[in-house]
Amino acid sequence: MRPTLPVTVFLLSCAPKAAPPVEAPPAPPAPPPAWSTDLLSSMDGSVDPCDDFYQYACGTWLKETPLPADKPAWGRSFSTIREKNLATLRTIVESSAANPAAKDADWQKMGDTYKTCMDEPAVEAAGVAPLKPWLGEIDKIKDVKGFMRTSGKLSASGVRSVVDAWVEGDFKDPSRNTLYLGEGGLSLPDKDYYVPTDDKGKATLAAFEAHIARSLVLAGTPEPQAKADATAVLAFETKLADAWTPKAELRDPVKSYNRVDRAGLVKLTPKLDWIGWLDGAGAGKAQEISVDAPATFQKFQTVIMGTPIAHLRAWLRFQAIHAMAPSLNKAVFDEDFGFFQAALLGRKQPEDRWKRCLGTVNTVVGEVAGRYYVEAAFPGESKAVASGMLDDIQKAFVTGLPNLAWMDDQTRERAREKSAKMSKKIGYPDAWRDYSGLTIAPAGFAGNVVAGTEFEHKRNMAKLGKPVDRGEWYMTPQAVNAYYNPLNNEFAYPAGILQAPFFDRTFPSARNYGAIGAVMGHELSHGFDDQGRKFDGDGKLSEWWAPEVSARFETQAACVKAQFDNFAIADGTHVKGDLTLGENIGDLGGVRTAYRAFRSTSGAAEPSGIAGMTMDQVFFVAYAQNWCTVSSPEYEKMIVASNPHSPNQFRVTGPLQNLPEFHTTFNCQAGAKMRPANACEVW
Ligand SMILES: [Zn+2]
Repeated sequence: MRPTLPVTVFLLSCAPKAAPPVEAPPAPPAPPPAWSTDLLSSMDGSVDPCDDFYQYACGTWLKETPLPADKPAWGRSFSTIREKNLATLRTIVESSAANPAAKDADWQKMGDTYKTCMDEPAVEAAGVAPLKPWLGEIDKIKDVKGFMRTSGKLSASGVRSVVDAWVEGDFKDPSRNTLYLGEGGLSLPDKDYYVPTDDKGKATLAAFEAHIARSLVLAGTPEPQAKADATAVLAFETKLADAWTPKAELRDPVKSYNRVDRAGLVKLTPKLDWIGWLDGAGAGKAQEISVDAPATFQKFQTVIMGTPIAHLRAWLRFQAIHAMAPSLNKAVFDEDFGFFQAALLGRKQPEDRWKRCLGTVNTVVGEVAGRYYVEAAFPGESKAVASGMLDDIQKAFVTGLPNLAWMDDQTRERAREKSAKMSKKIGYPDAWRDYSGLTIAPAGFAGNVVAGTEFEHKRNMAKLGKPVDRGEWYMTPQAVNAYYNPLNNEFAYPAGILQAPFFDRTFPSARNYGAIGAVMGHELSHGFDDQGRKFDGDGKLSEWWAPEVSARFETQAACVKAQFDNFAIADGTHVKGDLTLGENIGDLGGVRTAYRAFRSTSGAAEPSGIAGMTMDQVFFVAYAQNWCTVSSPEYEKMIVASNPHSPNQFRVTGPLQNLPEFHTTFNCQAGAKMRPANACEVW
């Protein structure tokens, strides 16, 4: 049956086909429950849910919600929660800025970070002076050896290098930390941007080149030289982009894990002084290093050796300006914003300064702000309620395993074991981060940002040679996000996402399980997606599947890849089914598992209180409304080109097209757009 929205029901009750009763008028229908008001007002009941469920669940919201001028995208759940969290943080952080000495040293660091950021006259007066020490070091580079060492050193301060470096558990021994090096060096979101096929892409590239020239001028390079330098910088990045291995290929952890020792790294590209780079980057202790794409590194060697030193200096100069631009004077800030935020992402104007300054606080002393945020916004019972839901989701995942025809009993048993070994983090860390090694001065915004970046970099590099700390959180408590980490076989749900409309202790189970439950199921399913399935219950990269079951999984996954390859955004660009595969499997497994968990709650059998709507239907609408989003075309293009998540409308229609439980709930007939013949099943 196609469900009707209450408004339609009211209209029907006013125009009965039979003769109207002559006695008492019918009792007015009960108003829908308070928890459903915002859910119902976002829907568009004129759309057939079996035709386009995204429009059905989000249509009115999409029509009535303009894209804010200071955002590239605006989502019904994520963005409203983020704004609410910012308002909570603002009260806390402004009080620390007004009186930094009122509490402990962490309080002072938070207050002074914010205060120096808000002090626009001081930032203006400083001009580009804070950049000078970096530019001076770059000027001294005489050869490739010097380039590698200086580039490594500046990377510790947040300046982009030709490679990215990070520390995490070793794929083969996840209890130990290892250094990972990954292809880097690109200012634009992905290699595709450097070889545009349409006029818009060509215009973006031309705008990028003009932006590089203007940035260099602002930092002191004379104009004719800056123009020549800009051409050289773009040429250098274009060659690096050409050498890049596509991100989708690097999703395979077996291929992207290539462990070498220091001698092995030197042997890989003998002309590049990696030891100097590591020393500069504060990673001199690294004995074992995993390189994500060795062939790309070798091509990088050819590109770097073939580039004049003056051009390498110009590239690094531009990267230094870009890294510091958000904390410099208005001229530099506006120039950087004009390209990276406006031209590239379609953001029309910057966010208010206080919001940007809270962003800086979150980066520099995120767990200090998080500690106070939790006190203000995460009441006592929330942790227990969320924890109980997560237990239900885990149970539901295991309950569903016997239904999967493509699995065999042995792999099923191991999947059960892996699920049982998963650990969960909810709300905030047990032990707060120690910021005693960080110095934040009462004056000098840019200097404080650099101090914060260097402190965080040092904290990460200090893990080398030490066992993995399983208590560490990789997100702040105030983040509106969640993650699964295959190396710890754990998931984490910060307090920042356990908020309405995702989660409220007073919501019926249909709404909580459809919204945050599906997010929980999503993270759990990452443990079994195309990447996660290659790690065992102890987080070790190992083959724990029977080969024929592996092959059958690949077939199921190929179905999802093909399904998403077919989706296209407004300008005709297709989604990359390979790049987004893990997230799409996570979404499909997530909503299915959450639905199963919801069905086992007592609330599933209750009437919704909404005329014409069952609790099952509420579940799916709540799920879809996680993803109601308006965005700029530039942002959409960036997501499709480089983000492992599909554009949000397909995170609704894609998984639900595959779900028999959804088809039954909305009585979708075979052949309807939301019920195609070639549905996929993974988890
Ligand atoms: Zn995910």
